Amino acid sequence: MTGKELQVHRHRYVALTLLSVLVLSGCDWLLEPQFERAQPRTDAEVTFAKSVLNNLQEISFKQDREYCGFIGLDNEGDYVATEAVRGEEDGCQPEEPDSDIAILASYHTHAAFSDGYDSERPSTIDLEADVAEGIDGYIATPGGRLWYNDAALSETRMICGSFCLIQDPRYEPFDDIPLETTYSLDELRERDRDVE
Ligand SMILES: [Zn+2]
Repeated sequence: MTGKELQVHRHRYVALTLLSVLVLSGCDWLLEPQFERAQPRTDAEVTFAKSVLNNLQEISFKQDREYCGFIGLDNEGDYVATEAVRGEEDGCQPEEPDSDIAILASYHTHAAFSDGYDSERPSTIDLEADVAEGIDGYIATPGGRLWYNDAALSETRMICGSFCLIQDPRYEPFDDIPLETTYSLDELRERDRDVE
């Protein structure tokens, strides 16, 4: 590590249900969340998620705000996304979708590139929130990376790397602590400690 200091992004807020309180307080072992996905992830779903996030990258960079929502299936079985909610610089709470949408995953952007934030990966809270809610999650970064939070496996995986989504023109790679392509929750917590 060099002297460059990064902060850990907080990101996706979770509704403070009992379930999430237990997860956020580290009592994962008390939980047996229900992971009921309306259908398994498909390539078409990933393509859809990419286009939803790509459409939000530029406004997210320009305003330095996260945008978030849910991806799901409508009554006809077509992929749909809820209207994106404008969040903060480092957090976003999506609105519950209508009941006629079967939720598949949450999605959010990571706002503009900032020298001080370790935002090229999902935050620990991002993954904790998805695990607590039993909902997978797609995350777009300023570097144009796409990540997938797998709630059932409690891990995050990079679907594609730098520039696979629109990239913030101000983005500068931070190579001092190399990015892995998969992190468990514990490994994300470890990275939090490494960057702080
Ligand atoms: Zn995030």
